Amino acid sequence: MVIDQIECRRSPAIIQLPHDKFLNRLPLCYHFRFMKRLPERVDFILVGAGVAGLRAAIDLAEAGKVLVLTKQELTESATQYAQGGIAVALSDEDEIGLHLQDTINAGDGIVNAEAARVLVEEGPHRIQELIDWGTEFDREGTKLTFTREAAHSRSRVLHAHGDSTGREIGRALHAKAATLKSVMFSEFEFTAGLHVEAGRVSGVELTSSQGELHLVSSSAVLLATGGAGQVYSNTTNPAVATADGVAMAYRAGAEINDMEFVQFHPTALYLKNAPRFLLSEALRGEGAVLRNAELHRFMPKYHDMAELAPRDVVARAIAHELEVSRMKDPVVYLDMTHLKPDHVKARFPRIYATCLQHNIDITVDAVPIRPAAHYLMGGIRTDLFGRSSLRGLYAAGESACTGVHGANRLASNSLLEGLVYGARAGQTMRENLAESRVRPGVLKIEPVPGNAGADPEHFIREVQQLMWNNAGVVRSRHGLSDAVHHLEAAAARLPLPFSRRNCEARNIHTTALLIARSALARLESRGAHYRTDYPARDDLKFKKHSVVTGGGVRFE
Ligand SMILES: Cc1cc2nc3c(=O)[nH]c(=O)nc-3n(C[C@H](O)[C@H](O)[C@H](O)COP(=O)(O)OP(=O)(O)OC[C@H]3O[C@@H](n4cnc5c(N)ncnc54)[C@H](O)[C@@H]3O)c2cc1C
Repeated sequence: MVIDQIECRRSPAIIQLPHDKFLNRLPLCYHFRFMKRLPERVDFILVGAGVAGLRAAIDLAEAGKVLVLTKQELTESATQYAQGGIAVALSDEDEIGLHLQDTINAGDGIVNAEAARVLVEEGPHRIQELIDWGTEFDREGTKLTFTREAAHSRSRVLHAHGDSTGREIGRALHAKAATLKSVMFSEFEFTAGLHVEAGRVSGVELTSSQGELHLVSSSAVLLATGGAGQVYSNTTNPAVATADGVAMAYRAGAEINDMEFVQFHPTALYLKNAPRFLLSEALRGEGAVLRNAELHRFMPKYHDMAELAPRDVVARAIAHELEVSRMKDPVVYLDMTHLKPDHVKARFPRIYATCLQHNIDITVDAVPIRPAAHYLMGGIRTDLFGRSSLRGLYAAGESACTGVHGANRLASNSLLEGLVYGARAGQTMRENLAESRVRPGVLKIEPVPGNAGADPEHFIREVQQLMWNNAGVVRSRHGLSDAVHHLEAAAARLPLPFSRRNCEARNIHTTALLIARSALARLESRGAHYRTDYPARDDLKFKKHSVVTGGGVRFE
């Protein structure tokens, strides 16, 4: 049964939906969810409540009952951690055509130009909507302020509360969605698989704590499950980024694209026993420089744009400096000690406070950093309307691949992608509402190979380390073949039964294989994919997208 009330997490009482304007001002933790028990059927299921899922929910609300599922708290997503900002051609000095050109240049020859055109042309309207819904972007007086990030030819990155842009966008989207009565949220609801009948996705399979699978049916399912950072041992991504959407779409038979293109962020805090906290590109945009173990600035010798070179160039330069360093556990340093301390603290309050928790004052200390897995350019193949190759299945945001980022994402284009393509997917699902005739209930679990009682944490750590060593910033045939071989052998040891963590182990394993196989098949270097045995770009053979299905990898 669904109730049109919201339940307060701070007290068990059921309270009425607050007034719209009041809700807009509430901190996110108060915007909790309406569900007492899951319904058996809804019109639309959206898996994920980051920027893409929330934006799609707003578009779908008029068309029927919308169920938004998250596997953790509603507020836990990559969107919440996005710091630097959101790119949009809105400043006086900017043009949509320039944003398009920078996006295409960053993608290194294989951006889907039509997808990128849609992104930059529809972006300004989506940002205006966000502002209308209460998003507080930073301003000087009444004018929006734009910062410059790597590989952008103009200052075009909007930010909010300094370095909490994603959190502010999530807050505003969530506040808007919470006013729409047909949108229901359910937290801590792990989607384990897609239900396919007669070639059409007609619902999702949810796993209980006992490993039982339940079906909730719907006209269509949108996967907005975010990225794949947890496939690697070093990542800026939150723990929820286990690529569940990609893995379940692949298992259901959907086409998956461009999985070899994983962006490694050059500058993640590197301290023993501390998470790989992201140190935004915007720090370098504001003048921070990189120094090696001897404290020499090294980026000018690698690229004309020095610290503002594309991310993959900076990540590889750092990897090289680490390799030639004589330190035992080498790091390089991000140095902003020459910038005005008050400006640094005001512009990057979250970064300043987080580093201080680790006894690093970024206004006086150089910060030890290393690269970390950050963003998946590939994902579930979709058209410009969020449609996957499977009927009834849609995808948006980081789990999708429209080709908009090509081989490398332009910084701060992903929040915009979530908005633009989340809205598009919502509109398309609305226009294609179909009756689902599937009978909900408990499902029989088909036997799969695996190891009952195996420790999922151990299994996951093994895969993550293998991927970091063999399919990371710098790759080769030897390392990638070794990774594929080990991953194929590890399939027999996948932990069982279908508890949440065991399912995540499976998804990480599936996604690791997709990345390693695609990277092995691409015999060139392009964008974020760099191979020592094929260091050059080969446009003749590989100016194409990789497509992977159960039948293997092909290029088209
Ligand atoms: C530290 C950091 C900083 C970043 N900074 C920027 C930036 O400045 N600008 C920019 O444009 N981009 C930035 N990015 C990238 C950007 O934040 C993400 O690409 C974007 O937010 C992804 O949005 P999404 O809606 O696709 O997924 P997410 O925001 O990751 O949301 C995923 C959702 O799916 C749910 N989910 C996943 N699996 C399941 C499952 N099996 N069952 C149920 N629910 C599930 C999760 O609970 C969550 O709600 C940053 C990323 C990180 C990690």
